[in-house]
Amino acid sequence: MLNVTDQLLRSLVLLASSATVLTAPCINHTAVADQAAAANTFRAAVGKLDITPTGPAFLAGYSNNRRSFEAHDRLTARCLVVDRGKVRVAFVSCDLIGLPRFEIQRIRSLVKSVAPENVVIGGTHTHSGPDTLGMWGAVITSSGVDQNWLEGVRAGIAALVDRTADQLKPASIRYANTTDVPKISKNIRIPRILDTELSVMQIVSADGAVPIATLVNYACHPEILNNRQITADFPHWLYETVELGGGGECIYFNGAQGGMITADYDESTAPKGENWKAAETIGNSLGTRVLEILKGSPTIPNPVLYFSKKVFTVPLENQRYLTLIKMKVFSGQPGPDGTLETEVCRIGIGQGEFITIPGEALPNVGFYLKRQMRGHPRFLLGLTNDFLGYILTPEDFGLNLYGYESGQSVGSSIEPLMISNQKALISASAQDDAEGVRH
Ligand SMILES: [Zn+2]
Repeated sequence: MLNVTDQLLRSLVLLASSATVLTAPCINHTAVADQAAAANTFRAAVGKLDITPTGPAFLAGYSNNRRSFEAHDRLTARCLVVDRGKVRVAFVSCDLIGLPRFEIQRIRSLVKSVAPENVVIGGTHTHSGPDTLGMWGAVITSSGVDQNWLEGVRAGIAALVDRTADQLKPASIRYANTTDVPKISKNIRIPRILDTELSVMQIVSADGAVPIATLVNYACHPEILNNRQITADFPHWLYETVELGGGGECIYFNGAQGGMITADYDESTAPKGENWKAAETIGNSLGTRVLEILKGSPTIPNPVLYFSKKVFTVPLENQRYLTLIKMKVFSGQPGPDGTLETEVCRIGIGQGEFITIPGEALPNVGFYLKRQMRGHPRFLLGLTNDFLGYILTPEDFGLNLYGYESGQSVGSSIEPLMISNQKALISASAQDDAEGVRH
């Protein structure tokens, strides 16, 4: 598929070459100049789609046969498209447990406005949305995925990306970042390994006056609620707080939240899984902090935009997953050599740097990755462009402490393979610095 900016440049060439035969060349020269300027202008747009199932759904998380009977709040797919010069990137975050890459590839194949490889799709990891993997059906041997609903979601997200890309307008950005956050998350495996870094990118109108979107990155399992109601969990209140506070559309990407970063609240105040007040408080606190740290942050006009990607394979070592694939409970198919194809991406926007993680990386893996990154602020987009379960270092893999995580992982090889590909993307970005383009 042709990159749309290539198409734009081609039409510019055609326009320029035909200008001499037109009767009002000065007007057309102006149009050419405007479009040429647009090709070097940072532009952005946002959009949103309701993806809440209409009927009962098997909910993803905790146990089999957890069937919803109603929705407490709406599940959404939230899209931000950014564009500059020849680069266009779509960020989509869905209120879902996660999406495996083969489903993301199906969505990409339907997108017309953005180069398929530049569509970045993550799950917030809510544990109260429909099953997207097959793991939470009526019994362990039956899939909980409603294929009709999922087909609608795939088409809907592709249309959302196209609709959003149609709305691109010149924009500026603002960044904010802190590790000083109120009580939100805790590590229930090793309490002292906790990343409280909150990174925020706000898209604003070109003159900096009007916020359009606020992308929030913070690591924490949205698993406060565990009942039979559909909910986005704490991100629902994060969205509400940021949007009512004038931040534009709020988009949340989780971070390195594996093993086991979860919400920090007083569990004695309500039965476990029913603490709606705690979800509200945590979402509100995070949203309020987002708005606070953005106050006074400088507007960055016309930031540069980079995108790079590595596709690689990882061995599927987990025999239980292999059995579930053979039983058609999981839809994914390993290659003939028993490997799964996955990917990592790096996006640079101005000084900010985004790296994707194809699953649930443990916090020590996240800390290591952040030390390799060169930008500021740093965004680790967890559960993005794939869902391969927990990602542990080979040293941690199989420890009693991480027995659960090791059993919910494709295997012990994924972490070093992922890290080497992410580091290759980061070091290749040094060329941007050498050319003095990245600033
Ligand atoms: Zn998880």
